Amino acid sequence: MQCPFCKSPSTEVIDTRECENGTSVKRRRRCRKCDRRFTTVESTQLLVSKKSGRFELFDEGKIVKGLKKACKGRPVTTEDILAIAQQVEDSIRSEGVVRVSSRQIGLAILEPLKKLDAVAYLRFASVYENFTCAEDFKRAAADLQTSK
Ligand SMILES: [Zn+2]
Repeated sequence: MQCPFCKSPSTEVIDTRECENGTSVKRRRRCRKCDRRFTTVESTQLLVSKKSGRFELFDEGKIVKGLKKACKGRPVTTEDILAIAQQVEDSIRSEGVVRVSSRQIGLAILEPLKKLDAVAYLRFASVYENFTCAEDFKRAAADLQTSK
């Protein structure tokens, strides 16, 4: 099993737990190279629950697409965008969850994006926080100021 952080193929299982319903097994693994820990869940894949109530397979490409849209015309490089997408995927996978909501993914993106570019952050937040009026936008912009 390849390390999701440094991609080293050298990892070891440090704990194995069968899930209550017996249909999946969680393994806690340690990377021999970077010493980071992560959890793998066998026989299940990471699913994203949508607002509509439907599920779809986790797709890092969608995160990249959303970020590119938010960062359009901003001084942000593709490397920056890919780094955030990777960071978000790492943080979700390191929790070992099987299901994640699209909202959780959005929130996980907001933090690193805030540090990267304020305008891109506000654009992205306006979609994920469901800004409905100019007031919402102003409030988020004010929050951004005070959190600096
Ligand atoms: Zn590693």
